[in-house]
Amino acid sequence: MTPHQRKISAIVKNLLDWFSANARDLPWRRTRDSYAIWVSEIMLQQTQVKTVLPFWERWMRELPTVEAAARASSDKIHKLWEGLGYYSRARNLQRAAQIIVAKHRGKFPSKFEDILELPGIGRYTAGAISSIAFNQPAPILDGNVMRVLTRIFGIDRDPRSKETNALLWQLATELVERSNNHCSALNQSLMELGALICLPRNPQCAGCPVKKQCVAFKTNRTAELPNIGKRVPVTARRFVAFLVEHRGKYLVRQRPQGVVNAHLWEFPNVEVNGTAADAAAVFKSQFGIRPPELQPLPTVKHSITRYRITLEAYRTSLRKEDRAPKGFWLVPTDLDSLAFTAAHRKILRQLNDGASHFL
Ligand code: SF4
Repeated sequence: MTPHQRKISAIVKNLLDWFSANARDLPWRRTRDSYAIWVSEIMLQQTQVKTVLPFWERWMRELPTVEAAARASSDKIHKLWEGLGYYSRARNLQRAAQIIVAKHRGKFPSKFEDILELPGIGRYTAGAISSIAFNQPAPILDGNVMRVLTRIFGIDRDPRSKETNALLWQLATELVERSNNHCSALNQSLMELGALICLPRNPQCAGCPVKKQCVAFKTNRTAELPNIGKRVPVTARRFVAFLVEHRGKYLVRQRPQGVVNAHLWEFPNVEVNGTAADAAAVFKSQFGIRPPELQPLPTVKHSITRYRITLEAYRTSLRKEDRAPKGFWLVPTDLDSLAFTAAHRKILRQLNDGASHFL
């Protein structure tokens, strides 16, 4: 055995021992149902475990099978995903469920190539499902695993460069292949180490099961690795939104296909970057009338990818005799049943909290 092979074997053994004693008890770890594992993996993309838990439980309760997911209305799919963000994940999940019903008679495929063909599933997710649900020796490499591997092996080149990325996939392959038929546990141990111990800042090296094998720990370079260079600068964006009430109903609109948060609902709003927004003037430019009165609501701040968004919201009641602008006019209880974008859901909550005062 070469020194490299010995190192791989030691890492595998230490990871498996640690994982069997320290794995978190997560509901999708209590099942081998490939559909349930698939849903968890899609939800966990860009989202933390504690956020995903209630969404996964609710999804599995409402849509317990591939067939149920394939048949559900688009509104139901979006409502179940409301608050998780990155909604194309939900749409792809449903398209994939429909393909599984049509092509695989509703049975989630077990072949890696078939899994990889499904919408919304890349090499990482296909590897995760193959290994976790079917215990196949398919490697995984996401941001967490990349961080763990660059540190353990002391790789100081940019992990996103083609050659280094290929090297990392190779190492991930060697690890899972050396796991002696514990592919599911091995890949999950890498994920778990990245989530709990080998943190981006302040990794908990003292309690790490592979510190003896870890180059970054031994050479005191944990803060330098992975070498991911400069981050994309953040961009500030400002929007003004209006909660327009007329005869007890509120004006809302659905975001069109092909834009961020497509299909979700929101209150009318407009981007006002770089201008000192006079809300009344913005309202007139949108609706062609001057609002009787505009009451400011607490400003909502949130982030989407590199954007830091400030959403200033105002509410107003049109007079009975005012002509209502065209659009969807709904009573508050109907608004509640729609899937809103995260920021506009916060505005809706403010409306619900103060509804009796306002109406
Ligand atoms: S020793 Fe520290 S840097 Fe190395 S893998 Fe463990 S937690 Fe990460």
